[in-house]
Amino acid sequence: MADQKCPDCSGELVKVKVFGRGWENPISKLAIDAEFGFYTEDNSERNDFLGMFKANGTVDSYLCSDCGRIFFYGTRLK
Ligand SMILES: [Zn+2]
Repeated sequence: MADQKCPDCSGELVKVKVFGRGWENPISKLAIDAEFGFYTEDNSERNDFLGMFKANGTVDSYLCSDCGRIFFYGTRLK
């Protein structure tokens, strides 16, 4: 993937981590971060007991160092 270029501007693609940040405590500024690393089907529902989705694959993220566009590439779990 590192040898691929951005289709918009031909910039270099660099691997990055994408994550979500939960509620931030206004005093301590602490929060919970969750790395964005999996995908599942669009109609997938959370497990009733654990509240988790069944992961069908992993996601790798790349950022164009010139225009800032982010690309996601999925790899199906076996
Ligand atoms: Zn670009």
